[in-house]
Formats: sequence, structure tokens, C-alpha cells
Amino acid sequence: MAASSTADCVIVGAGMSGMSTARTLAQQQPDLSVVVVEKDAAPGGRVQTDNVDGFLCDRGFQVFIEEYPMAKRTFDYKALKLRNFLPGALVLKGGEFNLVSDPIRRPQDLLASLLSPIGTFADKLKVGLYRLSCVRSTEEDIFSRPERPTVDFLRNELKLSDSMISSFFLPFYRGIFLAPLDRQSSRMFEWLFSLFARGPASLPEGGMGELARQLASGVKDLRLSTEVLRVERARDGTYVVALAGGETVKCRSVVLATDAPATLKLLSGVGVTANALSGSLADLFKPGLESWTFYWGLDQEAPIKAPILLLNGETERRLPFRINNMCFPSQVCGSYAPAGKALLSVTLCDSDEWRDKDESQVEPAVRQVLQDIWPDVMANAKFLRSYRIRYSQPSQEPPMKVPLQSDPTLAGTLPEGLVLCGDYMSTPTLNGALDSGERAAMCLLRTGVGRAEEAYAAATVT
Ligand SMILES: Cc1cc2nc3c(=O)[nH]c(=O)nc-3n(C[C@H](O)[C@H](O)[C@H](O)COP(=O)(O)OP(=O)(O)OC[C@H]3O[C@@H](n4cnc5c(N)ncnc54)[C@H](O)[C@@H]3O)c2cc1C
Repeated sequence: MAASSTADCVIVGAGMSGMSTARTLAQQQPDLSVVVVEKDAAPGGRVQTDNVDGFLCDRGFQVFIEEYPMAKRTFDYKALKLRNFLPGALVLKGGEFNLVSDPIRRPQDLLASLLSPIGTFADKLKVGLYRLSCVRSTEEDIFSRPERPTVDFLRNELKLSDSMISSFFLPFYRGIFLAPLDRQSSRMFEWLFSLFARGPASLPEGGMGELARQLASGVKDLRLSTEVLRVERARDGTYVVALAGGETVKCRSVVLATDAPATLKLLSGVGVTANALSGSLADLFKPGLESWTFYWGLDQEAPIKAPILLLNGETERRLPFRINNMCFPSQVCGSYAPAGKALLSVTLCDSDEWRDKDESQVEPAVRQVLQDIWPDVMANAKFLRSYRIRYSQPSQEPPMKVPLQSDPTLAGTLPEGLVLCGDYMSTPTLNGALDSGERAAMCLLRTGVGRAEEAYAAATVT
């Protein structure tokens, strides 16, 4: 007979959002029995790191933004051993790398920034003044401002030149939000810009996956390599969670902490389908954005010594598809490569240009571009791995309707005891995932998580 067990609450998914829910429940009501079920072999979801021949490859190039309010409340920064990026980026334009820095955080870069051919003098002044005003803005201010496509904001509000927008702001923010500037919300742009103005982006010594390991260390009952096949609701209002392998867990409440496509599949078990959702609720489940990161190991030191992001600011196309950003993560954090070696990452952002291609077609073409930039270095570079992540982030096309998206019950559409969390319910960031996870937990606690013992006093626990 298949095994059956009970719990007060089952959380499906051990990504940042699910583990944030587990953490909040444990803090607020430590006696609750909470089971977190994850189909992957490790926790973290989209935030994981693989060790490939001694190189730390994050599953897609990503950075830790230290000023995220939820991150500050969640992680032990000291234990993460964070290593900082320099602010700004080196922008490849006209075959050369040109510095765009933040002279307020790096006064020593003032002259180089002023002389840099990226943007006019007027652009630099306008960005500097905007930066000063941003630091005084609160998150509430920013999210109550008028919302429009980011490109309109940069062009019509900040009045920046097209060249500044296309060489710097486009690749920098496309690297973060994966979409072009006309499909990004100006509120998200302003919020991220203000966070970058306040503090650094960094990498943990153990790779981005260290964030997941730190969060998972507080989760008491974490079942890895276990897929949830179905969630159903019994007549008495309790839930039955069916796991791969035949086991079922009966519980009073369920948190679906999965990405939007996986959530939609599981919701069908409780009779909620995409057709039942309308307007902004249906928008939550729109197709996400894809990214593709390639890693190479170099048998020598990196050709760029600065711990900084590299952007492709070339406006003319040099490939059948466009490289957005590059980085030598090992220059930011030495542990990303064995001694004397360097790690190179290259990211392509969501695009139809490569949607129907596979790794064997794309890797040689990307490598060819890198060979044009660094011929000697790339001659001996070893391709390590690529990560193509089909649902890298939810779409964040304006209007984002952030307050409604935060409602874990989908404005009362879901049956009692079932709540959702994930970055698609908040902002498409690590902060958004943590925040939505906390909101889901608080929502359950407010409405009563439901104690399993009362419902299943007579159940056989195996
Ligand atoms: C390449 C890339 C770069 C990024 N860069 C940044 C960045 O620099 N800064 C930033 O803030 N954010 C970044 N993000 C976004 C950030 O990583 C995500 O917003 C966040 O990690 C999402 O967490 P989540 O818990 O909502 O979802 P997920 O991480 O997707 O977690 C969902 C979990 O549910 C599990 N699951 C799904 N179905 C089932 C099932 N049936 N049974 C059991 N388990 C299941 C999955 O395996 C997964 O572990 C990046 C994302 C990617 C992909």
C-alpha cells in the first residue's frame, strides 16, 4: 500500500519563495508541521550553482543586490562572504571597452567617466542628478509614480540621448529584466536604479547557490528529488498532495511555490484553470522570458582585471543573434575558478533569434564573437556548460499592478487553505520571491493554517 502521512502545511517548491514561506511559518508558529517538497536534487530553484571541473557555474548569470530589503532581513551577509562588483560597467563599443561608473560611489572614476565616449556630457550630468534624487526615494514613492515603458521614461523624463540609452541602459537593464526597454516597467527601472545607487551587487564565495543553502539550513522537513504530481481537495476541505513514488501527504493548507507554468498545472487539480482567471489575474500566468548563459574556463588569467560587468554596446549586429552581457565572475570572487584560471560567462536574453536553435549551433557562433574580442585568450578556452532557462523570469510588461499581484489567494479565487507565491506574484527578482513567500505565510497565519492532528486524528501515519 502506498505510504500516507499528514502535515499542517505542504509547500510545493524549495525555490527562494517556498523557503521564505517555510522560514516565516517556522518563525511565527514553530510548532506547525511544515513539509517542503522539491522535485530537484537541491534547493534553490533558479538560484543554484554547479561545480564544473573546479569552476563555479551559477545556473544563469545572476548577481546578489545587497540592498534588497527582503534579502537584508533574510540572509546572514557575513557568512555569505560577499565579494562586490564595481558599480557600472565596461561597455564594448567601437571594438573597445569603455567605463561607465558611478563617481559618487567611486570618486576615483570621475575623470574616466567624464571622458568615456558612452553618452554625452549632458547625459552624464542628467544621470548624476537623477541618481542623487533616487537615493532619497522610498520604495513606496517609486511604486506610486506613473508607470510607463522604461524607454519612454529614459527618453522623455530623463531626456537622455538615444546613444546613451542603446549603449548602456539597454544592455544593463535587459541583462536584469531580459526584455527590451519598451517592455519593462519604469517603476522597476527606478527601483533597481535606486538600489544600485545605494549599495553594491555582489557574488557569494560559494556561488549564488550559497543563498539557497543558507535558507535551506533553516527548513526542518525538506524532501528533495520528489515531484508533486497532483494537489486535490477532499470534501471536508482538506488537501491530498500526491508525490511521485506513490506517497500522499494530507494537510490543511498548501502553498504552491512553483513558477507560473508549473503552478497553473497544479491548480487544475483543484479545479482552477486559466479560463477561470480573467484580466490581471490571467496576466500573472503569461509566458515568461528565456535566457541562455554560456560558460568557458580559461587556462590563464582573465584579460579584464576589474571585477565589473561587461556590456555589449555595439549597435550593429555582429551575430545572427545578440550577446547582451559578459563577465569574468572569477575577477569578482576568486573562488569561481581554480587558482591561475578564469571563468567567463556570456548571456543571451530572451529573443526569437535563437528560440529554435540548440547548443551545438549557438555555442560556436558565440565563441567566434569572443575570439574576435580576445583572440589569444579564447584559443585555449574550454567550453564548460550552458544553461538555457525557458522560464527565467515572468514577464514584467507595464502595467505591473504590483499590489494585486501580491495577493496570495488570487483575490479570493482559490479554495480556502491554498495560497500561491513566487516571483510572478511580486517583482521578478530574488527580493520579489522572498517577499511573496513571506506574504503567503502571513496570509495562511491570518486565516488559520489549520492543524492536521485535529483533522487526521484517526489517520494512519507511516
Ligand atoms: C538566469 C537568471 C538570472 C537571474 N538573475 C537575477 C538577478 O541577478 N537578480 C535577481 O534578483 N533575480 C534574478 N533572477 C530571478 C530570480 O532568480 C527569481 O526571481 C527567483 O529565484 C524565483 O524564485 P521562486 O521561488 O519564485 O521560483 P523558482 O526558483 O522557480 O522555484 C520554484 C521551485 O519549485 C520547484 N517545482 C516546480 N514544480 C514542482 C513540482 N511539481 N513538485 C515539486 N517541486 C516543483 C522547482 O524545481 C523550483 O525549485 C534570475 C533568474 C534567472 C533564471
